[in-house]
Amino acid sequence: EAKAQGRDGIIVFNDDLAKRVEYHLEIERRLYFALEHNEIELRYQPQFNKERKMIGCEVLVRWNNHEFGFVSPAEFIAIAEKTGLIIELGNYIMEEAFKTLSQWSENEIEIEQFSINISVRQFFHATFVEQVEQLVRKYLNEKIVKKVVFEVTETILIEDMQRIIALMERIKRLGISFSMDDFGTGYSSLSSLREMPIDELKVDRSFVSHVGEQRSDELMITTILSMAKFFQLKTVAEGVETEEQFQFLLKNNCDIFQGFYFARALGKEQFENFYKERRGGGEHKSIAYEI
Ligand code: C2E
Ligand code: MG
Ligand code: MG
Ligand code: MG
Repeated sequence: EAKAQGRDGIIVFNDDLAKRVEYHLEIERRLYFALEHNEIELRYQPQFNKERKMIGCEVLVRWNNHEFGFVSPAEFIAIAEKTGLIIELGNYIMEEAFKTLSQWSENEIEIEQFSINISVRQFFHATFVEQVEQLVRKYLNEKIVKKVVFEVTETILIEDMQRIIALMERIKRLGISFSMDDFGTGYSSLSSLREMPIDELKVDRSFVSHVGEQRSDELMITTILSMAKFFQLKTVAEGVETEEQFQFLLKNNCDIFQGFYFARALGKEQFENFYKERRGGGEHKSIAYEI
């Protein structure tokens, strides 16, 4: 069986690699079509505070194809990044997300924060800041734009720090905040964290899922949370699936919680209903369905 091999730094182009390239091209072709035919949908995963009150959400993209159903963003976002389609896709997601946020504000759906994932290639694209400015101007007023959070990952550190900071500063001037997503899985050092003008840290799900099982992962969480406090960053835990994990995070002073224990990613209307049901406070009950 042929296998992809590097020999003296040269990649041998064999059957497996050819198949993979073909697969990527196929996905790209279909994704391009998907964008034009409204197959790309947005979901909103609620976020909760220490009192279990819903205070915001993260926008998560879904690709609903009539042939192969829902495709995981973990898969197609990576391909869109490689091929460059992420620019168009990212702009589309941002526009749809801003529309939703502005409608919610008009309909008295009051949330504190509204997070959108920004991929690394999108962030560094030459027209990204202009695109953001234009969409902010079109959909959001000064009060609402302050709710927007851009989630970036540590992979942005492939570029030099001065460039990262300059870009972030321009976007922050519009009122948008930054969150470091999947924190703890990448290569950012303490010093780079201190230099970047970020406002929030998201503890990666891989640590949260091992609470009660892996002492080293618990130590990662407590370290990240205390470091964040030191830098005065807001903290979010992703992938909270159990009461035990929630209690551990609470005890270690995490601010915001997101995960299947509380709610899955919801469609727009589902989110609106969820908000209305919960508005007077009330008992916590997890939502176990996803569409
Ligand atoms: P992420 O930004 O870290 O998003 C969190 C992922 O964890 C989401 O997966 C979410 O559904 C999942 N998740 C949340 N709570 C739980 C839980 O309690 N248990 C488990 N097992 N999973 C949970 P999803 O939606 O499949 O997205 C995967 C990744 O794809 C995201 O990771 C993000 O990196 C990327 N992504 C999703 N939407 C977008 C987007 O609009 N733009 C960009 N650039 N990337 C996106
Ligand atoms: Mg995220
Ligand atoms: Mg994340
Ligand atoms: Mg993650």
